Amino acid sequence: MKEIIDRLKKGKVCVLTGAGISQESGIPTFRGKGGLWEKYDPQIYATMPQTLFTFLRSPQKIVDFVSDFYRVLLNSKPNFAHIFISELEKKGLIEGIITQNIDDLHQKAGSKKVCQVHGNAFEFLCVRCGYKEKKNKEQIEEFLEKIKKIKSKRFRLINEFMRFVGRCKKCKYRLRPNVVFFGESLPQKELETALSWLKSAKTLLVIGTSGVVFPVAEFPYYAKKNGSFVIEINPEPGFEKIADLVIRERAQKFFEKLAEKF
Ligand code: NAD
Repeated sequence: MKEIIDRLKKGKVCVLTGAGISQESGIPTFRGKGGLWEKYDPQIYATMPQTLFTFLRSPQKIVDFVSDFYRVLLNSKPNFAHIFISELEKKGLIEGIITQNIDDLHQKAGSKKVCQVHGNAFEFLCVRCGYKEKKNKEQIEEFLEKIKKIKSKRFRLINEFMRFVGRCKKCKYRLRPNVVFFGESLPQKELETALSWLKSAKTLLVIGTSGVVFPVAEFPYYAKKNGSFVIEINPEPGFEKIADLVIRERAQKFFEKLAEKF
């Protein structure tokens, strides 16, 4: 514990998070038991061509998915791991937080230097000019209520989805969810930000990621190559081959213990 505290207090800490950090906030991990992805095939619901195809052919299937997906996110709130990291940021110790999560929980915990390499489920993006629009809880709940009522009306459903996603306020191009689907590249700006933080970090905290999603799985190797001390926090094996320190614990529990001594 002392070694970790000393390192964190030296600053220049980069944090890399995956679905595991939000598990104790009530959001199942991608590969964990009882998650959304046991019910919905990611090949259909997490790849852009298949999602579009399913949406146009049977939008009521997308209604079920979108409703379950947003209900989980709307019912979640930051846990102590998110909060402790935001406290470190307030103390000026954080270089940046790179997250694969699309749940917005780092921001809700008060973190500002957040780089969302896989996007944000509450945002909609114009791929033509880069404009982003964020929906709030009330807008999403209202939308979910509406689509539930017209679930059997295919054309009305398609129209309602298109209306909700909307058009760019600047160039009128149609927006899309600001989420990186399987097979899509990471957004260039976010990738560059993430790499610059990984390069300048003295310590990298890798929290709750299985390390099987690329290119993020390579980030700890990049940080290590650039001189960072790598600490992994995960109850299951992941980056033990390159981590300088491995904490086999759940994130929230670990940070609660750490905070007592910090
Ligand atoms: P993953 O599901 O592949 O792996 C989750 C990892 O978290 C596992 O290694 C697991 O052992 C660990 N874990 C489980 N509970 C934990 C806890 N309480 N504390 C610490 N670690 C814990 O997730 P991934 O590596 O992030 O990759 C899956 C992809 O799906 C990513 O793109 C991810 O963003 C996305 N996803 C996001 C969310 C979210 O936004 N919350 C949820 C599920 C999946």
